[in-house]
Amino acid sequence: MKNLTLEHIADCCHGTYIGPEEQRNFEVTGVVIDSRKAEAGNLFVAIKGERVDGHTFIDAVYGQGAAAVVSEQRLEVPKGPYILVESTAQALKDIAAFYRDSLDIKVVGITGSVGKTSTKEMIASVLSEKYRVLKTAGNFNNEIGLPLTIFRLSEEDEVAVLEMGISDFNEMHRLGAIAKPDICVITNIGLCHLENLGSRDGILKAKTEIFEHLNGTGTVILNGEDDKLSTVENVNGKAPVFYGKSEKNQCGKENCIYATEIRNLGLDGMKAVFHFPECTKEVEIPIPGEHNVLNALAGACVGMELGLDVEQICAGIKKAQTIGGRTNLIHANDMLIIDDCYNANPVSMRASIDVLTQAKGRMIAVLGDMGELGADEKRLHYEVGAYAASRGLDALFCCGELSKELAKGAEEHSETMEIFYFATKEELLLHLKSYLKKGDTILVKASHFMEFPDIVRSLQASV
Ligand code: ATP
Ligand code: MG
Repeated sequence: MKNLTLEHIADCCHGTYIGPEEQRNFEVTGVVIDSRKAEAGNLFVAIKGERVDGHTFIDAVYGQGAAAVVSEQRLEVPKGPYILVESTAQALKDIAAFYRDSLDIKVVGITGSVGKTSTKEMIASVLSEKYRVLKTAGNFNNEIGLPLTIFRLSEEDEVAVLEMGISDFNEMHRLGAIAKPDICVITNIGLCHLENLGSRDGILKAKTEIFEHLNGTGTVILNGEDDKLSTVENVNGKAPVFYGKSEKNQCGKENCIYATEIRNLGLDGMKAVFHFPECTKEVEIPIPGEHNVLNALAGACVGMELGLDVEQICAGIKKAQTIGGRTNLIHANDMLIIDDCYNANPVSMRASIDVLTQAKGRMIAVLGDMGELGADEKRLHYEVGAYAASRGLDALFCCGELSKELAKGAEEHSETMEIFYFATKEELLLHLKSYLKKGDTILVKASHFMEFPDIVRSLQASV
């Protein structure tokens, strides 16, 4: 962290500095919102959360050596300097935007309905072949996580790869104003957050709010396989860079890099021939699922934009890894668990079922509810069930209120698949464990709130 003085902080968040004059120019050593993480010289921003109010810990953080606090409340007996603001949540964003501006760094912002984290990991892996890269940790993609990621940047970092997630209109305006990406990647326009955004056109509108916040003549990189993204025309007078699985995108415009001869190596990953503007090259992608070819193409486009050569790009793709809960392959008890239970929606459910069909032994899907699908939620669950049945799986275990529809869709479309529905995860696990045999492959997937990692942990521990 450099050159972020208490004076700068007070200015950029329109706050009032209250403290000794000589400390106005103190440079903070970090910015935190979790009091337990406050260290000497840090700035603590007291945020009111759903369960806890950061203001409760102000005295404690001074005791831990924090340099100053940003507070919405006047402090009766301040134990150190503080900055009084109207909203600490807003101040956190303002300080992050100011800090981002102060750094000489390239920012890559990634958004889209599905595949943001996976694409972020892929892009970071590619760029690490040439640059010192800082990426969003895990899924810290919202109005709290994005500022905290930016505060982790140091002068040595050359590129920041930032995931940006939204669920409503105007949110991307707020995230964009903080990140000001030099390059923005949109993975797809799916069916998430329909409750707020209404339709895929609504989702397109909300995601593309980011275009207004590009840094200078920033570059837009879009999935040319997506019909909605393919309609995007020039952004700030500059044509978007498309990628896809053929020469042209869904609207007939050129894809800058495209993949052909896509081969599935089963659970070992994918191979494809990438057509770069100057050459073609066989690329190995060590993560299963055809969607990872698209994520690798996004990585290749960003790499090209930032001056990597084809060798570096391919080397970076080959080293890419998934993070927990996203097509994470776990060998346990002579079985293979595909841990994909970080989150789920109709698009990613189908993609994961496709991955499962690459398994050598019995293919068993353990599926749960998908959240935030709006009025069509029952139909969308029913259709995933029908899809699972059409893919020739051996068994389907489901639980969750909406997954009754999933089971129904499967029942009505399957002749051979065994289908089990349970009201609770505990019952499901009990039956699943007695059903499993050596050599089985088990996909575990549901939305975050279903807490399916419990199932993965239990399967890992014993069968
Ligand atoms: P969130 O909104 O929860 O942050 P996300 O957009 O970051 O989700 P990921 O966590 O990368 O999405 O991926 C979720 C799942 O979607 C993965 O485990 C995988 O099954 C699937 N997936 C990854 N990339 C794609 C893609 N490009 N298209 C479709 N599905 C994908
Ligand atoms: Mg994510």
